[in-house]
Amino acid sequence: MPRLAAYRPGHLLTSLPLLLAGLLVARLGQLNEFFLSLFNVLPTLLLLLGGAFCIAYGRQRELAVLVVAYLAYFLLDIQVDHFREQGQVRGDAALVFHLCSLLLPLLYGLFGAWRERSHLLQDLVARAAVLLAIGGTALALARRFPEALQAWLVTVHWPLWHGQWMNLIQLAYPLFLLAGVLLLVQYLRQPRPLHAALFLGLLGQLWMLPKVFILPHALQVMSSLVMLMLVAAVAHEAYQMAFRDELTGLPGRRALNDRLERLGRNYVLAMTDVDHFKKFNDTHGHDVGDQVLRLVASLLRKVGGGGRAYRYGGEEFTLVFPGKSIEECLPHLEAVRQAIESYSLQLRDKQSRPKDDQQGRSRRSGSAAQSVSVTISIGVAERDAGQRTPVEVIKAADQALYAAKGGGRNRVSVHGQRRRGAVRVKPQPG
Ligand code: GH3
Ligand code: MG
Ligand code: MG
Repeated sequence: MPRLAAYRPGHLLTSLPLLLAGLLVARLGQLNEFFLSLFNVLPTLLLLLGGAFCIAYGRQRELAVLVVAYLAYFLLDIQVDHFREQGQVRGDAALVFHLCSLLLPLLYGLFGAWRERSHLLQDLVARAAVLLAIGGTALALARRFPEALQAWLVTVHWPLWHGQWMNLIQLAYPLFLLAGVLLLVQYLRQPRPLHAALFLGLLGQLWMLPKVFILPHALQVMSSLVMLMLVAAVAHEAYQMAFRDELTGLPGRRALNDRLERLGRNYVLAMTDVDHFKKFNDTHGHDVGDQVLRLVASLLRKVGGGGRAYRYGGEEFTLVFPGKSIEECLPHLEAVRQAIESYSLQLRDKQSRPKDDQQGRSRRSGSAAQSVSVTISIGVAERDAGQRTPVEVIKAADQALYAAKGGGRNRVSVHGQRRRGAVRVKPQPG
């Protein structure tokens, strides 16, 4: 998936509270009947619901990670149930537990960091083949050479690196470390809710494994919450895709329409449009154009007065000020207009090179400016007797924007003021 803007605490919004809730609830010695039943069915329910969701939307990676988390839960749950009912562990408990400690970080890290690249069906087949190959080999070895395998698993392979705190087999730790580093780097390079959930989910499982036979609900609670984190991250990203504009990170047109339906009786809408942007794109290239749109968006996002910025489409943005009058909003609109006007974006050589050689030559012979700047025009209107619905207010703001363009651009224009002979014309600097 292409980049989803930069790091935002919102990425952790679903997974971090779930991880903390898991840590808290899993420590409880006793759960009431309701939660006991809930956590008994939750992992299976999440596998079915989340799995169906992932299949329907082509999210192979999340599906594979869910399956891995569920398989570990399933295998360990049989052991934990037996231990709880009989008061002693099953004969194969140690082997199953150690194999889970080894394969869980290995497969979880592998599938979590393995991005979908090829055809979706091929991707699914490849993941299934890897799962079957690794799981099948482990199963075959466990069946044929149980003692030898167990002895190898529990051996301290690097005595120098062995710590007293290690409650799992030594081999599990390098795999958890490797998976953790892979998933953390993945999150830092591409911050998005799923990558945050994958990393935090691994931490949850690292915490859970040594406590599986010690804390009565650790396995069910933490497995449920790790799977819930993954499913919630998929839903969170689906929501973002629908409501957030990918280029600028601002809420998009759908989010704006949603917001317009919930505005009260008083509000102000401002339509903003980048000036001469087509020429800017032609001169500097589409990539620099995109970068400028991101910059404009980041400055519009900071607008004061309780305003909220949306990307309306193309190089047009809408600012929504609920419960405000035009007089209250104007200073903030003027401030944001000035902020954009005075911001100069530094271009690296490669970015500033125009597509066409002739243009390049003429620019090199002239001023070799490595910084660019843009201006915006703003049209603003409020709800009143003349325009009662959001659609009408937007139309009025659009008319004001048109007036701002006609008046020379780089200015804020108020709807209706031209007729009263008072278009707000801002003095051009220089
Ligand atoms: P005006 O001052 O009258 O607004 O002139 P303009 O050139 O900005 O007006 P127009 O609406 O004709 O041009 C909009 C241009 O914005 C056309 C298109 O090339 C560019 N544009 C729209 N969306 C994007 C985008 O996502 N990225 C980039 N780089 N350019 C875009
Ligand atoms: Mg336009
Ligand atoms: Mg424009």
